[in-house]
Amino acid sequence: MSEHRKSHLFYQTRHRRPVLDQARGVYMWDVEGKRYLDGSSGAMVCNIGHSNPRVLEAMRRQMEKSTFGYRLHFETEAAEQLAAKTAELAPDGMERAFFTSGGSEAVESAIKLARQYAVARGDSMRWKVISRFPSYHGATLGALAVTGYSPMTVPFEAMMRPMPKIPAPRAYLDGLDPEDIATGRHYAAMLEQKILEEGPETILAFLVEPIGGASTGALVPPAGYMQAVREICDRYGVLLIHDEVMSGGGRTGKFFAAEHWNVAPDILVVSKGFAAGYAPLGAMAARDEIVDAVLDAGGFIHGYTYAGNPLACAAGLAVIEEIESEDLMANATRMGNLLKQRLEGLKQRFDFVGDVRGVGLLLAFELVSDRVTMKPLQRELMAYDRLVEMAYQRGLIIYSRRTRGGYDGDHFMVCPPVIATETHVEEIMENLTAALEEFSALVSV
Ligand code: PLP
Repeated sequence: MSEHRKSHLFYQTRHRRPVLDQARGVYMWDVEGKRYLDGSSGAMVCNIGHSNPRVLEAMRRQMEKSTFGYRLHFETEAAEQLAAKTAELAPDGMERAFFTSGGSEAVESAIKLARQYAVARGDSMRWKVISRFPSYHGATLGALAVTGYSPMTVPFEAMMRPMPKIPAPRAYLDGLDPEDIATGRHYAAMLEQKILEEGPETILAFLVEPIGGASTGALVPPAGYMQAVREICDRYGVLLIHDEVMSGGGRTGKFFAAEHWNVAPDILVVSKGFAAGYAPLGAMAARDEIVDAVLDAGGFIHGYTYAGNPLACAAGLAVIEEIESEDLMANATRMGNLLKQRLEGLKQRFDFVGDVRGVGLLLAFELVSDRVTMKPLQRELMAYDRLVEMAYQRGLIIYSRRTRGGYDGDHFMVCPPVIATETHVEEIMENLTAALEEFSALVSV
């Protein structure tokens, strides 16, 4: 990779990466011909792998028909069909969907729909959205206000109204048993306490990722948590919004992760795996009563130029068809169980591998200097950066974050596309083990 290659692009940092040439299935190749296994599906996006023929064909067909129809001028069959499919997959009583170009836009849409619903009901005192710390809900200012991740939010705090946060239920850090229903109740009680502290009449919604994304590293809620949260929201007239931007789309073995607990939200958002990287697409679905109240009160005061883009919707529909026809959610469960077991096995070899967690192929592991106290590795080791690089050099892509929120540690997401086979799992483990071996020379636990 040339550090001096000139570019007219900029992203978050000056950090440069090889130029992508092509991608097929779980593999990607750079222009130098080096092959990478996409062990994080990009940023947990490319759920069905790259260059899927069914999706490419559906997009080609749509492109030949039309690539854009502005919503004030035309409806499109592609958007209509995807909305019908979304309604079929969403909990009962959510018959309509609203499309966006990504996760942040979908979260913004959910917050605005919730607020307009409250106003339509004459409940305009309600505006606060409680969320968790840490959490990530998007980069736009509205989504950022409900994001609990300080490096992203701090520079902009003066520009956003403060929104209340409660701790994410990280039982493994607090020494609590995640299987014990008392643990779920303990963390859910924090929501009730926050609602009472702030004044229930001011609380619009609680926004939660059913299974945590990158900010918590595939955090699975403790037993009873999701159900208790639903009950608390109902008790105080607070809308429950599920952010399934990362956990939705089949990666966990269910189309929506909340299905694992049989809990239905009032509003849900999904993106990443929804069109699986074939096109920028997100969606919001809400209970019919909410949509009707807002539309009857004069309309949803919100929209995006690219909402319901037919090419993106055709891609999204074909992605879901592929997941269903190839039974890919069952494969996510099978391969997820195998990969999780193999990640657990790393603990025997490396003392510094801490918690391993996740469901299906939404998996993560944490590095620690003490597995009992979960004390993180020294910050100077920059594990989140170094280990990813060591894997990358070996042709394995994984995704890392420094965990925040009263705990400053390193976690790594291992989330290959849900088309992964046992051979791919073995290849991931071989390269990951070699990278950890190289990293272990830096660690003195
Ligand atoms: N919500 C969650 C849970 C996410 O993981 C993300 C992105 O990582 C977002 C929202 C924002 O999505 P986007 O980056 O597509 O705007």
